[in-house]
Amino acid sequence: MKIWAVSNQKGGVGKTTTVVTFGGILASRGYRTLLIDLDPHGSLTSYFRMNPDRIDFSVYNLFQDAMARKKPLPEPYIVSTGFEGLWVLPASTAIATVERQGGAGGMGLVIANSLAAVRAQYDFVVIDSPPMLGVLMVNALAACEHLFIPVLSEFLGLKGLERMLHTLDMIGKSRKAPLNYTIVPTLFDRRTRVSVQTLRIMRERYGDRVWDAVIPVDTQVREASDAGIPLSHFMPRSRAAMAYTELLDHRLSQDRSRSAESAFATA
Ligand code: ADP
Ligand code: MG
Repeated sequence: MKIWAVSNQKGGVGKTTTVVTFGGILASRGYRTLLIDLDPHGSLTSYFRMNPDRIDFSVYNLFQDAMARKKPLPEPYIVSTGFEGLWVLPASTAIATVERQGGAGGMGLVIANSLAAVRAQYDFVVIDSPPMLGVLMVNALAACEHLFIPVLSEFLGLKGLERMLHTLDMIGKSRKAPLNYTIVPTLFDRRTRVSVQTLRIMRERYGDRVWDAVIPVDTQVREASDAGIPLSHFMPRSRAAMAYTELLDHRLSQDRSRSAESAFATA
């Protein structure tokens, strides 16, 4: 089971879109995929037509279990999205309280620990995270093997990226393994100078940490979201869906070459 997270301390950068689109592509390839909503706004949850204000069982239950010193087991809270091979562990707005109580400590590994119990059930887990640093984001960063950081192709996007990388520096120290990440330029509009300029600056500053292509602005993204269908299923040949497919394949091939290297090293 591979665990990825999508995170950035800025909202509106394409985090949820990335999670849903990855989920759709992976599921359509036959991978059993679980999406986890760790954002109190519950946008991922709403995408699949569930109301985060109303649901009784959600990722919040895992935190409650952990606080009650019970072993957090995700299975009872996971629901089907209605798309084959794609499940979601939804958020209820109640998880905002985790952020407030979380300071009590020991809550940073709830998701990481609970996922151990579903290793055999899923091939991929993709975690959506809130746009602010707190216990929920820490849970996403602690649980994942690879992080995607969507960044808006505009000046404020660069500022947000700086902040996010600073956070990673802080959190990285408490992780056993270093956290690998890919910076993903999103909502890229090649007709605008600001998109082109920010991309150039991003590449100058962060080199090959930046994915070598971009996710273009594409009206199909909003259409898919309005229809409650992952973009990969709604319009697989759309520009954004193709870009996401390329990003995902890039990641999978990097993973394969890394595991080949480590097999070689231990042989
Ligand atoms: P976040 O989760 O970071 O807040 P979202 O994924 O919800 O960001 O995206 C914010 C808004 O931008 C949504 O309305 C979404 O439909 C839209 N959006 C995201 N990616 C694209 C894209 N590539 N092209 C056009 N609109 C997009
Ligand atoms: Mg979101």
